[in-house]
Amino acid sequence: MLRSVPAPAQEQRPKKTFPEFVAAVYEDPRVGHEARELLLAIGYAVDLAKREDGVSPLKVARRKLGVEHGRMARYDRLVASDAPRYKPPHAAGNWGPSGAPGCQAPRLRPYVFRARQTPSPLDDEAVVLLRPRPETVVHVGPDHVDPVDYRNEHGICGANSHHRVLEKDPRTGWVTAHWFCKRHKDHADRVDDQVRAQNEQAPEPIPNIGGLLPCYFKADWEKVYKHYRPHWTAPKYGLCADDWPTVDEAAPRTYGRLRAINGLDLEDA
Ligand SMILES: [Zn+2]
Repeated sequence: MLRSVPAPAQEQRPKKTFPEFVAAVYEDPRVGHEARELLLAIGYAVDLAKREDGVSPLKVARRKLGVEHGRMARYDRLVASDAPRYKPPHAAGNWGPSGAPGCQAPRLRPYVFRARQTPSPLDDEAVVLLRPRPETVVHVGPDHVDPVDYRNEHGICGANSHHRVLEKDPRTGWVTAHWFCKRHKDHADRVDDQVRAQNEQAPEPIPNIGGLLPCYFKADWEKVYKHYRPHWTAPKYGLCADDWPTVDEAAPRTYGRLRAINGLDLEDA
C-alpha cells in the first residue's frame, strides 16, 4: 500500500539542540550543498528567534542568505528548488538526435566500421598528392584483443534517435525513456502500444527531489513553496521527503504460496 498521507510525526520527534540539528543536516545523504545552506540558515534564524522576541525566522534566514545575480534573494531560489516534486531522468528529455541516447532497437547484422569516403570535387585520378600518404600503423601489445563494439555487445542498432517512447513504472510512476531511430519507427510504435495501458494506470510519480525543509522544520510549507514556485502543486505523497514511499514500499504486495514459514516451529510439529 502507498502511504499517501504524511505522518503527523513532527510533534512526536524529540526536539534537537542546535549542534544536534547541524550534525543531522551534515549526516543526511539527501541534503546537497544548497539545501544544506538553506537548512543551516533557517536553523540559525530559529535559534536566534528564541532569544529575540518578534523575529520571524524565515525573514531572518532570507536576509542572512543575501542576494545573488545582483538582485534576487538567494533564499527565494533555494526554497523554490526544495519544492517536493518528481524530476524525470535526463534521457527522458525532449532531445534532438544529437542529445538523445542511441536507438535501442535490436541489431540484426553485426556492426562493421566503414571509413568515410574522402569528399573530393575532382575525380580520384585528377587528384595529385604532394607526398604519398603514410601507411596506417597501430601499435598494440601482444595480448591485445580488439574491443567489441558496444552496438554488437548489446545487440542494439545505436543510430541517432528520433522517436521517444516513455514508459511509466506501475509502482512508482517514474519514467524510463526508450529511443529509436528513423529506420526503427515501427519498433517505436510497437513499444508505444505495449506501454500504453500500463502508462494510463501508473500512479502519480513519487517525488524524488526536494521536500527537505518539512523534515527539519514545522511550518505551512505548502504555502511557502507555492509562493516561490507558482505553478507547483503538492504531491499526494506528502511534502516531507521522510514520508515518501521507497520503491520497495511502493511495489504492489504479492503474497506467495509459502505462508507462515517463519512462525512454524518444526520441533513442535
Ligand atoms: Zn535504429
